[in-house]
Amino acid sequence: MGRVIGIDLGTTNSCAAVIEGGHPVVIPNAEGQRTTPSVVAFAKTGERLVGEPAKRQAVTNAAGTVASVKRLMGTDTQISLNGKNYAPQQISAFILQKLKADAEAYLGEPVTEAVITVPAYFGDAQRQATKDAGRIAGLTVRRIINEPTAASLAYGLDGGQPQTVMVYDLGGGTFDVSLIRIGDGVAQVLATCGDNHLGGDDFDARIVAWLAQGFQKEHGVDLMADPIAVQRLRQEAEGAKKALSAALQTVIDLPFIATGPQGPLHLHAELTRAGFDAMTADLVERTALPVRNALQDAGLAANDLDQVLLVGGATRIPAVQAKVLRMVDVAPSKALNPDECVALGAAVQAGRLGGEALAAGEGLLLLDVTPLTLSIETVGGVATHLIERNSTIPTRYSRVFTTAAPFQSTVEIKVLQGERQLARDNTLIGNFTLTGIKRAWAGVPQIEVTFDIDANGIVKVSAKDLDTGKQQGITITGTSNLSEAEIERAARDAALYTGQDRERKAAIEALNAAEAALYRVDAALGGPAGKALPREQKAHIKEAQKALERALRRKTAEAMTPADTDALTAARTALEAAAAPLL
Ligand code: AMP
Repeated sequence: MGRVIGIDLGTTNSCAAVIEGGHPVVIPNAEGQRTTPSVVAFAKTGERLVGEPAKRQAVTNAAGTVASVKRLMGTDTQISLNGKNYAPQQISAFILQKLKADAEAYLGEPVTEAVITVPAYFGDAQRQATKDAGRIAGLTVRRIINEPTAASLAYGLDGGQPQTVMVYDLGGGTFDVSLIRIGDGVAQVLATCGDNHLGGDDFDARIVAWLAQGFQKEHGVDLMADPIAVQRLRQEAEGAKKALSAALQTVIDLPFIATGPQGPLHLHAELTRAGFDAMTADLVERTALPVRNALQDAGLAANDLDQVLLVGGATRIPAVQAKVLRMVDVAPSKALNPDECVALGAAVQAGRLGGEALAAGEGLLLLDVTPLTLSIETVGGVATHLIERNSTIPTRYSRVFTTAAPFQSTVEIKVLQGERQLARDNTLIGNFTLTGIKRAWAGVPQIEVTFDIDANGIVKVSAKDLDTGKQQGITITGTSNLSEAEIERAARDAALYTGQDRERKAAIEALNAAEAALYRVDAALGGPAGKALPREQKAHIKEAQKALERALRRKTAEAMTPADTDALTAARTALEAAAAPLL
């Protein structure tokens, strides 16, 4: 069995880590970076790009590029890229495949198992979708853990002192707050709350809207109608936001952003931190309610907190840090790198599951909670709570169902997630039908249905006929999840890209080796040994050189077929053989 890696599959950036020598370390990607942009693209040639190369070409290939797909996980939205549709799970799987391949290159062994983190506030469909993405990428997901909990695991390593910690996690697309008690070898999550649709992207969007409005007023041109202009605006807006975390003012320049009657139009704007704070004040404010709710659910007051950990890149925004300080009056700890601590914590959990020896203090036992209440719909459309939010997981609850009509052989049960009183205001996570109920008068059959929330936060349902002790048939149909067959098909599709990536790597290596051989032979021919070589032998080498140059001509890794790669390698080997006495 290979090693289990920890993966932070982020909205904006993703990061992988593994245990080495008892400690978690970040796995650098093929580009040498510690985090990988969560961006996927299909180039015009059909080639798939993931991470930095995909992000770099986003402006010129807006229709073929997708970012922030995490926001769509658990929905049935289809993402259209250059005319082909993908489920969010498939796009996430492409990112996971890259992290997997980079980890394999780093570790020098196959990687087939992972712990993946999700926002604490992710519901069942989103967790299931994340697990499916792992499968599509060829990874067995050993555990889904909550991001803030992972951060606290990473933190628990250094501290280890008994304390109550608030993890305030504002990433690219989601906001979570978790209250965790660390001590006596246990990290117990007391409460968690959040907003799945609040993150750094929303701050960028405010700057984009402000820039577009200003431009419309000045030039009468709607930049939002042009996808390429929007991509450029987004990139600049993110850059400006980041700059304003350190500087009090920044300049945004986008030359040739549009064309007017008089020719090209340029965008130039100046944004101060005060201006940025004013246009995003309500977003910062929106984090207050989940903090209050989490404290209330945990039965804590703000002054019970010993430590505040800031996680997620967007917590670098000074107004966000100021807001945290105002709410809880504890100066946030700077002990962790907000971009990496989630992956490091995931690696700690992965190491535990994989049986790695962990350094002292890193073997914290993790007790997590379910973020949302689980209910079923009962008469009158009421959501009857079965498992309350913030219950420690894994947990289970059983309830006996019976029939409402005589000789009824099936019962339909709707499972809901959410805090509202009426079924229709909550998220329907699945329907199931109890079948094979024996013929009896209404109210006679006794079927015990058990709802489990497993350690991943994923809901499982089973049923037993109390008369006969037999298991009842249950088919749960999720609202947005992929079927088994769809997952398998997607996994096969994704595996094709692994082949493509391998071919591309082989092509790049063959190109490099060919160029290096030409250079070496040239240098040798020019040297004393080359000059002393008999004429026929020299002619033979020159011929092999020409053949290799022909094979190399106008070849790029993108355009090469496996046959081209083989031909190039054969030509290079022939040259090396001919020039062997010189080399
Ligand atoms: P994460 O999903 O945790 O990687 O968070 C990414 C989000 O953090 C994105 O919206 C980034 O634009 C944002 N971010 C990263 N660095 C900074 C910074 N220095 N200032 C403000 N936001 C940042």
